[in-house]
Amino acid sequence: MSEKFIPLVDHRQRERSLALPGMLETPDGKLLDTRARPLRDLRISVTDRCNFRCVYCMPKSVFDKDYHFLPHNSLLSFEEITRIANIFVAHGVTKIRLTGGEPLLRKNIEKLVGMLSRIKTADGDDLDLTLTTNASLLARKAQSLKDAGLTRVTVSLDSLDDATFRKMNDVDFPVDDVLDGIAAAQQAGLGPVKINMVVKAGLNDQEIVPMARYFKETPHVLRFIEYMDVGASNGWKMDEVIPSADIIRRLNAAGMGLQRVEANYTGETAERWRYADGGEIGVISSVTQSFCQDCTRARLSTEGKLYTCLFATGGHDLRSLLRGPDASYSDQAISTVVAQIWRARSDRYSELRSAHTAAGEQTERLKKVEMSYIGG
Ligand code: SAM
Ligand code: SF4
Ligand code: SF4
Repeated sequence: MSEKFIPLVDHRQRERSLALPGMLETPDGKLLDTRARPLRDLRISVTDRCNFRCVYCMPKSVFDKDYHFLPHNSLLSFEEITRIANIFVAHGVTKIRLTGGEPLLRKNIEKLVGMLSRIKTADGDDLDLTLTTNASLLARKAQSLKDAGLTRVTVSLDSLDDATFRKMNDVDFPVDDVLDGIAAAQQAGLGPVKINMVVKAGLNDQEIVPMARYFKETPHVLRFIEYMDVGASNGWKMDEVIPSADIIRRLNAAGMGLQRVEANYTGETAERWRYADGGEIGVISSVTQSFCQDCTRARLSTEGKLYTCLFATGGHDLRSLLRGPDASYSDQAISTVVAQIWRARSDRYSELRSAHTAAGEQTERLKKVEMSYIGG
């Protein structure tokens, strides 16, 4: 095996042992972790594959033709995903986001959307059921996703300049097709579409002002995301991060007159800013301003491992409770295992990274999970 595989393969095999419950619990939606954070959001990765090779996420040098993606039989089935989702919702989850890899590559994804959309929250409300996509297949699928029960969609778009966009997705995909996907989503009633732009210094930071100008004239909400040190393959360096404060400064220097707006709810990751003449943008400062204290998010990997942090180095293998010799676990037993995991959660990677950076120290290089494997 060539050396470039080692971090990721090691990582996917790394597991945290599951303590099997002695006494079963009934979920009451009031689960808190060691920092008193509730469980509210679940991100589900439905595939580790992608048709893009974004340089900051799945660089071609690592994710090449020899790369071993997960075999189909190790993916959670739609029934397994729905079973786990029900358990999380009983624990208080109200928002589910489908992600990947590229979620629209998963065959019959609309069927999964339909199954999840029938789940009601503990209060009897509909779930907030969303999906993050590179939009390459969105023009074709927007209406069927809406019909299946999807609430909204978030599209990743890093540049409006075709040459820069093709350089970033590294598969020569044209920007116009993404714009068609966004228009189709809005038309189908999946709006307002959130547009996520990851800003990497020297690559697409010249696009900050043009992106803001373009989306200001649309119903879509643009959000700038600081380039993060996720995974082990993107060669992240702090000097390639453009801090959100600089983004706001650049926009205001271009005459946008942005004013800060109150958060919609506690735990909202995007900081909201409003233009003097209406319309909004968001900035997500995952690097320069950690939001760990309000982080209510769990992530389920493509093969059914539960991660309690985007920067976790290991996951809890829930799939082993659904399949194989231990497959006799009842929903209540699995629910009790999930409760134990969440109660023991103490993750606050970004907070610690910020403290290290402020002290001029290097954060330890951990073998972190890849974003394309657990989903952003
Ligand atoms: N393929 C879909 C897409 O691109 O929207 C969903 C999966 S992708 C991993 C989810 C989000 O993670 C995207 O918005 C992407 O831009 C973001 N992302 C990936 N790597 C990142 C990094 N190193 N820093 C910040 N955001 C990143
Ligand atoms: Fe694929 Fe999304 Fe990662 Fe880009 S960011 S490589 S589209 S998974
Ligand atoms: Fe949540 Fe981990 Fe990100 Fe902190 S670093 S906000 S705990 S996912």
